[in-house]
Amino acid sequence: MTAFGSVFMPEMAISWFDGSDWSATEVVASDSIQVHPGAHVLHYSSTCFEGLKAFRHKDGSVKIFRMDKNIDRFAQSSQLLGLPELNKETTSQMIRDIVARFADEVPAPPGSMYIRPTHIGTEPAIGKAAVPSLTSCQYILLSPVGDYFAGGDKALRLLIEDQNMRCPPHMGMVKSGGNYAAALQPIMHARAEVQADQVLFCPNGDVQETGAANFLLIDGNELITKSLDESFLHGVTRDSILTIARDMGMDVQERELSVEELMERAAKPGCEAALSGTAAVLAPVGTLIYQGQELDVGNGGIGETTVKLRTALNAIQWGEAEDPYGWLT
Ligand code: PMP
Repeated sequence: MTAFGSVFMPEMAISWFDGSDWSATEVVASDSIQVHPGAHVLHYSSTCFEGLKAFRHKDGSVKIFRMDKNIDRFAQSSQLLGLPELNKETTSQMIRDIVARFADEVPAPPGSMYIRPTHIGTEPAIGKAAVPSLTSCQYILLSPVGDYFAGGDKALRLLIEDQNMRCPPHMGMVKSGGNYAAALQPIMHARAEVQADQVLFCPNGDVQETGAANFLLIDGNELITKSLDESFLHGVTRDSILTIARDMGMDVQERELSVEELMERAAKPGCEAALSGTAAVLAPVGTLIYQGQELDVGNGGIGETTVKLRTALNAIQWGEAEDPYGWLT
């Protein structure tokens, strides 16, 4: 099996901003773009991206999940990085056109077409370390992906990191390349030292998120997750799961969660934890590692409510259930 995101459709949609206008969208080969080696993005990380999916339905149609919410985040990330302003309608058209062009290649569930809009600062200006790029480029890559859980759904091991942050506290809500590079050192360390799958970043004991997904604690009928602030990524999957959970009658609490409360609740039988994200959907967490101790979450396996919520989300995405929220395009 090829790694998630390592196969691409041969063409992508692209548009360039020259300092005053966006060029008409073109469809070009997806294996290269030409930027100057002094381009702003290559030195000062003026880049942001998105991750969303298109799904094949039984009637042969192809539906994109929560495109508008992802475009809103894309535009917000661009703005917070000082990149040229995106025209959301243009980005939306680019996504719909390129997905339509490769509609026949969208895998059937549990696979999907992963969509990766990207925005980079292209100005050749290495003197602009503290000044935004005046020019930029946005492009939409497509990557067919299989079942993330192929080979068996296994409960993840998370290392609780309460010293280092994932990224600067005001940048967490920005989906920017620099944030991911900044988080690699603690993640590599956690993999090597305690064979953790992911790091759960909890600066000052405040449970935030992992390197590529949000964290949800499920204790009986209660679903607890950090309330939105600048310090972490506002996941679209998080929002979708919370909406579904509320409609199932769960007590959804968006609030601060301390490591202390997390450990206390996780030790109870029946407690569950999960990671939400476009790639992972809703992945069960089985073990928390904190200060050299390992603690099973509930029974350490795959939680019932986690599976129930994931199944409900997949059913909407795959067209097997109604889409009462208008999430499909
Ligand atoms: N946090 C981080 C740091 C992520 O990279 C992701 C994946 N995009 C998420 C959370 C989950 O976001 P979403 O549900 O929108 O994919």
